[in-house]
Parts: sequence; C-alpha cells; structure tokens
Amino acid sequence: MNEIKEITEKIIEFRDKRNWKQFHNSKDLALALSIEAAELNEVFLWKKHEEADVERIKEELADVLTFALLLANNYKLNVKKIIEKKLIINNKKYPVTKSKNSAKKYNEK
Ligand SMILES: [Mg+2]
Repeated sequence: MNEIKEITEKIIEFRDKRNWKQFHNSKDLALALSIEAAELNEVFLWKKHEEADVERIKEELADVLTFALLLANNYKLNVKKIIEKKLIINNKKYPVTKSKNSAKKYNEK
C-alpha cells in the first residue's frame, strides 16, 4: 500500500471513531486547511526563519497536510497523480532554461 493512502486511512479512522465526518464537508475542510496554514505562518511571525521552533513547524505542517488529505479524499482524488499532473504544468510554466536561479513568476519578465 502506498504511504499516502496508508496515512489517509489512519486519518479517516481517527475521524470516524469520533463521528466527525458530519463536519468534514469540503468547504469547512478548505477553511480548516487555510487556518492551519495561518497557524504555520504564526510559527515564523516576528522571527528570522532559522529561529522558528521546528517542533511547532512539524505540528502545524501535519495539521495542514491532514486537512489537505481529507479534502482530497472528499473528491476521491489520487494525491500522487494530481501532484504529478501539476508538476508537468509547472515544468511548462517554469522551464529550467528560463527559471534556474530565478524566483520570478512565469508571467514576469
Ligand atoms: Mg494547528
């Protein structure tokens, strides 16, 4: 079994034991994902990035990824496939010849 599917099933088991599926509509999962991303940002707030507490980064990143996997599960998405598809798109937007050592967005000169 692949690791993404395995961890998604563990999250679902945790959720279903608590009967929380009733709260996990896609809109609220998207909101929760955004809120957890803000909590991750808070770990860095008013600090140099190297001063951020790595244990808190792990916790908030786990929350972000958990809600992302739950949202993907609501649409029965294959996470590996959607990321691979996006990498193909990004590879076209950001070819190595134009993008190497550059942080510019694809539509900037
Ligand atoms: Mg959190």
